[in-house]
Amino acid sequence: MFKKILIANRGEIAVRIIRACKEMGIQTVAIYSKADTEALHKQLATEAYCIGNAPSSESYLNIDQVISTALLSGCDAIHPGFGFLSENPAFARMVEKCGLTFIGPNPDVMEKMGNKAEAINSMRKAGVPTVPGSYKAVTKEEGRKIASEIGFPVLIKASMGGGGKGIKRVNRIDDFDYLYDEAREEAIKFFANDEIYIEKFIENPKHIEVQVMCDKFGNVVHLFERNCSMQRRNQKMLEEAPCQSISKDLKEKLYDSAIKACKFVGYDSVGTLEFLVDKNENYYFIEMNTRIQVEHSVTEAITNVDIVKNMIKIAYGLKLPYKQEDIKLLGCAMECRITAEDPANDFRPNPGKITFMHVPGGMGVRIDSSVYTGYSISPYYDSMILKLIVFGQSRLECIRKMRASLEELIIEGVTTTTELHYVILHHPTFILGNYDTSFVQEFLKEFDENVKRVR
Ligand code: ADP
Ligand code: ADP
Ligand code: MG
Repeated sequence: MFKKILIANRGEIAVRIIRACKEMGIQTVAIYSKADTEALHKQLATEAYCIGNAPSSESYLNIDQVISTALLSGCDAIHPGFGFLSENPAFARMVEKCGLTFIGPNPDVMEKMGNKAEAINSMRKAGVPTVPGSYKAVTKEEGRKIASEIGFPVLIKASMGGGGKGIKRVNRIDDFDYLYDEAREEAIKFFANDEIYIEKFIENPKHIEVQVMCDKFGNVVHLFERNCSMQRRNQKMLEEAPCQSISKDLKEKLYDSAIKACKFVGYDSVGTLEFLVDKNENYYFIEMNTRIQVEHSVTEAITNVDIVKNMIKIAYGLKLPYKQEDIKLLGCAMECRITAEDPANDFRPNPGKITFMHVPGGMGVRIDSSVYTGYSISPYYDSMILKLIVFGQSRLECIRKMRASLEELIIEGVTTTTELHYVILHHPTFILGNYDTSFVQEFLKEFDENVKRVR
């Protein structure tokens, strides 16, 4: 097994990976920026090295620094976590060229699936349903023509997009040109790539995704689905598994498509296939995340499978120790992504010092976080500070446990989304379970009106 792994990330996911390594007897090397001298991942790792200034481009995204630190500290592998360099095939290739193992899929398959337009094209060849659209990167003129053919509304999307960024909805042809330009500018700014593709807008879809684990010997298993329809501006806020509002029949189709897709492209790590499901249970592949995801912990709860440890073992070259029938559904789980943002102020990020913090506990309650009392949240990085995950035998038990846990959770000094999550946990639409991706937007209108009324 690997002796020492460098974790090329920060925050809760770096802590999560360090914990997995500790359980496996693997030493860890943390890297941190000048803004992260107090960070938990720095404190928990066996060794830690400062690799640059606060902006990600000068530290966590600095490929030369990351790889040389791994080499000089005697690591044999690098785990990229999510975000940052995790879906960058050039980085993965360089890691391998330097004689280290990249803990993720092989760079070729990452490249193939990382470009969303190309991934959609591959999936069509594999016989997996996709959303009607351009199926490839297009110019403004080509895009406008395709949009008119498939009918409005359409989405303009960045081929290399992620994290809900670089997506524009176009309701009528007159708006197409300027929104294309806006999407392209965003794509260049965030993803350093100007490729744009077009997709039909699916009305009120559910976002259902399938977690997979594949080894380097062609073995593929799925770990059921997650419902990630609770989204604001195309970003997930709460995830649950299993999904209780789609049929068994559809679930089987989603698992089959996910497995078929992985086999078709030769996928060889853990990953997620994201689908949209419409009211009539038509389903469409939208993208694959070729990395560990934020919400992997929900699936760990319902299966009792440690996805991060398996990811490391697969990268080392071990065979998957599971057949599909070994993966059992043990109950229900949900996760709230608590962010340091102010919901009453258009979710403005709210960095600052945590003056007091108390976290919930008890059976089936898991906290994945990297903050603590006295810690100052940096304005430079993602505002997610804590994931609260609960597991129960039924969905109702989960809802009760999540409500009780949110009641216990106290974070003082910065504004967070804890209260907003608490309100959502009491909303009838959420309790009934049949919500779609339009729910949060509608609900926030009510929430905003209330905030304005009492001010
Ligand atoms: P998940 O399904 O894991 O939640 P997200 O797309 O929400 O995936 O992204 C996970 C994290 O990585 C978030 O913090 C997000 O901001 C960040 N992220 C994802 N893709 C990119 C990208 N291409 N560039 C920069 N950050 C990204
Ligand atoms: P990212 O790479 O940023 O995660 P995705 O392509 O996965 O982008 O889309 C993010 C979210 O945007 C989806 O979960 C869904 O809520 C919404 N979305 C994406 N494509 C469509 C579509 N064709 N129709 C309706 N909603 C969509
Ligand atoms: Mg996505």
